[in-house]
Amino acid sequence: MKRLLLVLLSIITALNAQSSFEKISVQLQWADQFQFAGYYIAKEKGFYRDAGLEVDFHKFDPKISVVSEVLSGRSTYGIGRSSLLVDRMEGKPIVALAAMFQSSPFILLSKKSADIQTPHDLIGKRIMMTEDFQDSISVRAMLNSQGIQTKDLHFIQHSYNPMDIANGKTDVMACYISNEPFVLKEKGIETNAINPESYGFDFYSDILFTSEAEIRHHPQRVRAFVDATLKGWEYAFNHIPETAQFIHLHYNGQNKSLESLVYEGRILKDLAYRGNQTLGAITVEKFRRISDIYQVMGVQQNQKNLEGFIYDDASHQKVPLSVDEHAFLHSHTIRYASTFAWPPFNYRSDNGEKELQGIAADFWRLIISRTGMQTTFVHFPTWTGILDAIKTKTADITLGTSISYDKEPYALFSKPYASFPNVIATNKTIDFIPGLESLEGKRVAIGDGYTVAALIAEKYPKIVIVNVEDTREGLRLLSKNRVDAVIDILPVIAYLINDEHYMDLKISGSTEFNFDVRMMIRNDYPYLKSIIDKAIDTITVAERQKILNRYIAVTYEEGIDYRWVYGIGVGSLLIIAIFLLRQFEMGRYNKHLLKMATTDPLTRLPNRIKLDNKLSECHAFFQRSQRPFSIIIMDIDYFKKVNDTYGHLIGDKILISLAKICRKQIREIDVIGRWGGEEFMIICPETDGEGAHKLAQKLLENISTAKFDTIKGLTCSFGISECHDGDRIEDIVVRADNALYEAKEHGRNRICLG
Ligand code: GH3
Ligand code: MG
Ligand code: MG
Repeated sequence: MKRLLLVLLSIITALNAQSSFEKISVQLQWADQFQFAGYYIAKEKGFYRDAGLEVDFHKFDPKISVVSEVLSGRSTYGIGRSSLLVDRMEGKPIVALAAMFQSSPFILLSKKSADIQTPHDLIGKRIMMTEDFQDSISVRAMLNSQGIQTKDLHFIQHSYNPMDIANGKTDVMACYISNEPFVLKEKGIETNAINPESYGFDFYSDILFTSEAEIRHHPQRVRAFVDATLKGWEYAFNHIPETAQFIHLHYNGQNKSLESLVYEGRILKDLAYRGNQTLGAITVEKFRRISDIYQVMGVQQNQKNLEGFIYDDASHQKVPLSVDEHAFLHSHTIRYASTFAWPPFNYRSDNGEKELQGIAADFWRLIISRTGMQTTFVHFPTWTGILDAIKTKTADITLGTSISYDKEPYALFSKPYASFPNVIATNKTIDFIPGLESLEGKRVAIGDGYTVAALIAEKYPKIVIVNVEDTREGLRLLSKNRVDAVIDILPVIAYLINDEHYMDLKISGSTEFNFDVRMMIRNDYPYLKSIIDKAIDTITVAERQKILNRYIAVTYEEGIDYRWVYGIGVGSLLIIAIFLLRQFEMGRYNKHLLKMATTDPLTRLPNRIKLDNKLSECHAFFQRSQRPFSIIIMDIDYFKKVNDTYGHLIGDKILISLAKICRKQIREIDVIGRWGGEEFMIICPETDGEGAHKLAQKLLENISTAKFDTIKGLTCSFGISECHDGDRIEDIVVRADNALYEAKEHGRNRICLG
C-alpha cells in the first residue's frame, strides 16, 4: 500500500511538473541536419526545460510556408532567411529574434575541372537555382553588381541532387557551403564555389522569428526561449563531434554521414561567429543594407517598416554604480560643453535647434541613458573657451579630445571610447600612399596645434608641415594644389571631403598614428570620471559600430550626396575597413558594390536601375497623395557628329562634363540619371509641368553657354511630362519621349511639354 501511494504520489508530481511547462513549437525550414543543432541540443540537454518550456519541432515540409505557420499560430516560432524582411515589408507582423548565421551559406558550386571561378565565368553556363527571387537574391545581386545580366545565364530546374554537377546535368548548382561540397568530396569530386559574400553581398541566414502576438502576450517566454536556444547553440558549437553524433543517431532522416555532419558543424560555426559577432546578433544596420539590396533588385520596400522588425526586449543595460556614485549623480546636474566646430564629432544639429549632434554626442547620449544622469548643454564657440570653462569649473565635462598632459592640473580624462587612424588626403591623381615616408620633402597641411603635427615633426623631420587653421582650410589648399597632402583623423577627412564636394580629392593612405577619443572632466569630479568609465565599459562593439556607421558609412539614401564614395576611392574604403571597422569590412564593401550596381560608371550619375526605382517611388507617392511630379528627358543634339569628328573618347569626356553641369543646376530633391547613351532623365518630385519647364530652361541656358574642352559648344533638346491621374509609369515616359521628339523636329535646342 505504501508503495502504491508512493507511485501515485510520483505520478501526481510528474503530472504537475508536466503542466507547469509551457508548450511551444518551432517550425524548421529544412530537413534535419546540423543546421538546427542548437535547438536539438537545447532540448536534449534540458536547457528548454530549465526555462520552463516544452519545445516541439515541426519537421520541414516543402509545401508549407514557415511564415504562415507562425502567423497562424500553428507554430509558435519559426526559422527563416533574410527574406523574412520582405514579408515584414509586406505588412506581416513577424519579429526577428536572433540570426544564427551572420552570413548565408548559400553559394554557387561547380566541378573543379569546369574552372568556374568568378561570376564572369558563369556566362553561358547552366545553373540550377530556384526561381524564388527572394531566396537567391544574394546571388542575383552579386551578378548584377558584376555587370552580368540574367539573360547571359541559363537557369534550369533545381534537382537538389549534388551528383548532377558531377554527371554533367548542370554546370553550376546553388547550394549550401556547409553541405554539398563535402558530399561531393566524399565521392571523390573536387569543386569550386563562388560565394556572394566575397563580392560583398552578405546576408543573414537561419533567423529565429516569431509573431508580434507572441511577443505581446508572452514576453518572458520569448526571452527564455531565445536564451535557452542560444545556450544550446553555444554547446553545439563547443562540442561539434558529440553534437554530430547525437544528430546522427536521433535526427538523421537525410542519412548523412557522421563526417559530413561534423563538417557541416565546423562551417556553420564559422558562419555563426563571422565578423566577431556575438551568437545570434542582429543589427538594424545590416538589415538596412539587406533591404537596400532588395530595393536595388526591384523588390519594393518601405524602410519605415523596419521599425519593430528586430526584437528589442527593453532590458537595457544599466551601469552598476556605487553608493557614492549614485549620491553624486543625484545631487548634480552635469553641464557638458562643446563647440559646433568639429564635424562629424560635434556639430550643430540640422533641425534648426541649438542642439549638438555627432559621434561624440551619440556616445554621450548612450552614457546618459545608461546612468540616468541629469545634464544641460553649454555651447562654446571655441575650444579655448571650453578649456577655460573646465579650468574655472563653469562647465563639468567636454565630450571629445585626446589625452594631453599639460591639461592634467585641471582635468581628468575618461577611458577612450573610440579610436581612429590619422589618414592622408591627396589629389585623386596620386596612387596609394603606403606610409608617411612617401611624403618626405612634400608639403603637408595640418590644423594648428593638432597633436599629430608634433608626432610627425619628430619622427619625419623631412616632411614640410604647413600649419593651417583647420582641416577644412587644409583641404581647400589641397584642392588648389597649394599643398601636397592633408592629414587628420579618418572621420573628419571623410566628412569634409563629402561636405565640401571635393570630387578631385581622396584618402590615399594611412599613418601609424592613432587618435584615441576621450571625454575631459573637471578635476574635482572623480566620481563623474568613474561613472563615465564604467558606462564606456558597457558599450558593446555592435553599439560602437552603430554610432560610427551613422556618420562615416557610405550612405546613399535619397537626397544625400554620395559623390564622395568616388572622391575617396576604393583604396581608402579598404583602409576604412581595415583600420576602423574590421568586422564591417564586407558590409562597407557591400555598399560600394551596391553603389556600383546603381551608378553609371562613366558619368557617375544614377543609372537606369536607380531611375526606374525612383520613378516607381514617385508614382506610388502620387497615387497616395496626389502630389505632383514631373520628368524631363534630355538628349544631346547632333552628338553623333561630335563622335565622328573628335572620336569617342572626347565624346565620353563631354558626357562627363555635361553630367557635372546638370547636377549643379538641379535641386537636392531632384534626381538626374543616365537614361541611355546620351540621354538623361531628371525626375522632379513636388513639381508640376510648369516647374519642370523652368528647370529645363535653366539647363538649356547653362548648357548652351557652357565651355567644353575641344568642341565649340553643345546644345540639348528636352521633353517634359507631368504625372496625370490614371497614368502608368510607361505613359509618363512615353509622353516625355514624344515631347523630346517634337523638340528635335522643331529645330533642337528647345523644350517641349508632353
Ligand atoms: P539628335 O539627337 O540631335 O537627333 O542627333 P544625335 O546625333 O545625337 O543622334 P542620336 O541621339 O540618335 O545618337 C546618339 C549618339 O550618341 C550615338 C552615339 O554615337 C552617341 N553615344 C551614345 N552613347 C555614347 C557614349 O557612351 N559615349 C560616346 N562617346 N558616345 C555615345
Ligand atoms: Mg539619343
Ligand atoms: Mg542625340
